[in-house]
Amino acid sequence: MAGKLIILGCGGSAGVPAIGNWWGDCDPNEPRNVRTRPSVALQTENTLVIVDTGPDFREQVNREKLGAPDAIILTHIHSDHIAGIDEMRTFQRLKKRRFPVYMTKETNAVVQERYPYMFQTSEDGFYPTVCEPVLVEEYGDISVGELSIQTYAQQHGHIRSLGLRVGDIAYSTDVKTLPEESFACLEGIKIWIVDAAANESRSNPVHASIGEIIEMNERIQAERVILTHLPPTMDYRKLFHGLPEGYEPGYDGKVFEF
Ligand SMILES: [Zn+2]
Ligand SMILES: [Zn+2]
Repeated sequence: MAGKLIILGCGGSAGVPAIGNWWGDCDPNEPRNVRTRPSVALQTENTLVIVDTGPDFREQVNREKLGAPDAIILTHIHSDHIAGIDEMRTFQRLKKRRFPVYMTKETNAVVQERYPYMFQTSEDGFYPTVCEPVLVEEYGDISVGELSIQTYAQQHGHIRSLGLRVGDIAYSTDVKTLPEESFACLEGIKIWIVDAAANESRSNPVHASIGEIIEMNERIQAERVILTHLPPTMDYRKLFHGLPEGYEPGYDGKVFEF
């Protein structure tokens, strides 16, 4: 299974610049500071899976010239990860088929409540079903076409999110701490793309700080740690020059091979 992971978005929930043209500490002249909401694409020659459909979903797919995904994976219920799911209606119109959405039963309950029309055909038949829910375990396997993805649980404040491993890359968006079992799932990874939405100086109850990530990676031992979910308070170049060896900030459009 050879393929690539594309960072579709590495911004935090507000993106950069945030609404109101708020750049925070980010240099507006650095193109890698332009960050859309958190998402990645997993792509092999014949298979495409998109992880999370945030508010920038349409823009991200068009920017990377992607077609209709074979499946969607939703990591958790927060709006910066699901609010763009409505865009799948256009792919349904173009492809005349339904799209599987892999998620835990907790995520499924909330998504179906918020977007019921995506999962059922309207009474008059005019609006067809767009998405088919596929329930996944916190520790399980997702198999879509040529892609084989392992899931693991993450603590994200008072809720849990799904972490995903494909080959020797793991994607941990929206994580504060990892349950003990998840460390075993991350054994042997080379690249860890991980939520770093908090600066060292301000602790965040739902997102890991760089210090907390370094601590977790002392056990995981990924050779490269790529920071994602970055808020306007974290400038690309300052991070790039200030992080320890092996650590680097992500940016939209960055590609990793697996
Ligand atoms: Zn988020
Ligand atoms: Zn979240």
